[in-house]
Amino acid sequence: MTATIIDGKEFAARVRGQVAEHVARLKADHGITPGLAVVLVGEDPASEVYVAAKHKQTVEVGMASFEHRLPADVSEADLFALIDTLNADASVHGILCQFPVPDHLDERAVVARIDPSKDVDGLSVVNAGLLASGEVGLVSCTPLGCLMLLRDQIGNMSGMEAVVIGRSNLFGKPMAQLLLRENCTVTIAHSRTKDLAEVCRRADILVAAVGRAEMVEADWIKLGATVIDVGITRIPHPEKPGKSKLLGDVNFEQAMTVAKAVTPVPGGVGPMTIACLLANTVTACCRANGLDAPSGLTA
Ligand code: NAP
Repeated sequence: MTATIIDGKEFAARVRGQVAEHVARLKADHGITPGLAVVLVGEDPASEVYVAAKHKQTVEVGMASFEHRLPADVSEADLFALIDTLNADASVHGILCQFPVPDHLDERAVVARIDPSKDVDGLSVVNAGLLASGEVGLVSCTPLGCLMLLRDQIGNMSGMEAVVIGRSNLFGKPMAQLLLRENCTVTIAHSRTKDLAEVCRRADILVAAVGRAEMVEADWIKLGATVIDVGITRIPHPEKPGKSKLLGDVNFEQAMTVAKAVTPVPGGVGPMTIACLLANTVTACCRANGLDAPSGLTA
């Protein structure tokens, strides 16, 4: 068997196209421009790259992008004052604080300060609770992106066995909740799971989010499964000195011989994350204005 390679880059471009269409409609029909505010504390080089990419893509889809840079030694009070201002600003529909923040700031407290209806990262306890209760909220971007890829590949997932490796609040738990909503039978595996390979072999849908390079091998994968590789490990590039290479949690070459479809790393799940951030901002904007959120862009 040779699996289909799920092209996340191409799919993310499609999502951004849909977002741009909705933004244009909101402007034309309602005079509303969705706005995303990104707060960056300090000068972490990786965060600078992410924030620049978010700004570029936000502007490209026609949304307003507000960037707020604060010094690394900003006090919690000053950061919260900025978040309070953004919470109250009607032109801002989504707020994201780029993590990691410096050690003297508590990430959970920062997330909790953001109005849940503007928490486009979907990381707040309120949004996690809404998801777990099957109610309407904002869903964490990477799991939402994986759900979109799975819906596109599989369609109806009802009754399928799904295994998610990883139980983080950022990814594993919301991913499992989304699969449960799709009526999958869901298993969440983690570092204490006994005979992980055996558990994974049950999966029609296998989602790996661990951060251990190529841990999932061919004999962990059920014949014909759909495999979503979320993990990212950076290693020195074997052929290009001074450069690095990204590896996923799944041995891609092996998975290609057993699975029905596999996401590559890079170019699979990764590009979906910012696309879903933009989708969540449109969703938040529609809800703030009493309009229906675009169905293709929500969970
Ligand atoms: P995390 O908070 O470190 O969680 C990792 C999970 O993996 C934990 O639940 C841990 O179990 C489990 N685990 C660790 N070793 C294991 C093992 N040997 N066998 C089975 N499970 C094991 O990480 P995360 O934030 O969820 O991210 C996971 C990976 O996805 C990382 O590589 C991250 O870079 C990547 N990621 C990518 C994107 C993207 O945009 N593509 C977005 C988010 C995350 P315990 O709970 O028992 O410790």
